[in-house]
Order: sequence, then C-alpha cells, then structure tokens
Amino acid sequence: MAQVSGTATRAALAARLCDAISVCEQRGWCRGTGGNFSVLLSRRPLELLITPSGFDKARLAPGELLVVDERGRPCGEAAAGPSAETLLHCAVVRATGAGAVFHTHSVAATLLGEHFLAQGGFLLQNYEMLKGLRGIRTHEARVPVPVLANSQEIGGLAARVEELLAATPGVHGFLLAGHGLYTWGDDIAAAKRHLEVLEFLFETVARKTPFAPFLGT
Ligand SMILES: [Zn+2]
Repeated sequence: MAQVSGTATRAALAARLCDAISVCEQRGWCRGTGGNFSVLLSRRPLELLITPSGFDKARLAPGELLVVDERGRPCGEAAAGPSAETLLHCAVVRATGAGAVFHTHSVAATLLGEHFLAQGGFLLQNYEMLKGLRGIRTHEARVPVPVLANSQEIGGLAARVEELLAATPGVHGFLLAGHGLYTWGDDIAAAKRHLEVLEFLFETVARKTPFAPFLGT
C-alpha cells in the first residue's frame, strides 16, 4: 500500500474513521469507551492514526485521534494517550498488511470468546454472510476464528497475536476471551465490512450455542 501523507489526506482519513466508529457505537459494539480503531498512515516507518484511550466513541471528533509509531508511542504532541491496546493494532498491521484495524466489545463476541477459549477457537461455515469477507466465494467456506486468552500485558499479547496470524492462514479476525473482536481490512471500508459480517455471524452463532450455566457464588 502506498504511503499516505499530507494533512488533507490525514484529515479525510480521520473523518472517515470517525464516521465508521460512530456507526459501530450506535450498534452497541463499543459501549463505555470500549473498543479502539486505527487506520494506516505509513507502512515504513509504521504510523497509525488511532483512537485515544478512554474516550466515549459516541462523541469522538477527528481532531482527537492521534498518530503513533511502530512501538505504539505518540508522534508529536497529543492531548491524550493512545488506546491501551495500540500494540495489538501494530501487530495486526505487520502480520496481515492491513490498512485499517477495528476492535469492538460486543456481547456476542464476549460470550463466544469465553466459551471457545479451551478449544482455541471455532469455525464459521454454511452462512451466506461469509461472502462479505475478502476472498470468500461460497457459503461452504470454512473460516476459522481463533481465540486467545485475554491479558493486560499487551506487549506479550501482541507477540502472541503476530505468531498466531503468521501460523493461521485465512483468518479475518480473532477473539480475545471474555473481551472482544479484532478484525481488519485493506482500508476503512473493508475493515468496517468485515466487522459487520463477523458481528452478524457471532450473533447468529451465539444464539444457537448452549452456554454453560452461570455459576454464582
Ligand atoms: Zn478491548
């Protein structure tokens, strides 16, 4: 992908990213400041435009996004820190060549990640909606959704993500158990489409999955 440069281009990307975030927020996928979103500005050296930490996604303005480098450090002045999970965005971009990375906290993704952690993930198959994922031509395709254990040690988690994506072809997104989804695409529109397709399918799978009964104290 070509280097993205210029203030006008950056402003346009920021506006487009905020529009996509607003749609995701309205669908209930990033409540309570949850979730984070990024778009690639430069591949070499790596620079991402990313959401700041702790901001309400319903009210995010393009000027509040910030630029980070390949180690997740802000480039230049920033009023707020980058998202705590910035290193995961960097890992996904490096491993997949993505141009945009979206991370959401939906109810279905939270439930499925927790449920399928022990098996390491689950397969999506026999759904027409799969054809919304890049390269998928038939509902019969088998699309793996890996699940990783959640962690607050983001550096170690980012290394596991890079390893997983290098070892697992055909992955369009992965879950962190009890946490949420990471998906991506060549650009903002593709990442948003993948997010919408996967969240639709997670909702479908969650409705027919017999979850373990809640074990209260
Ligand atoms: Zn998260």
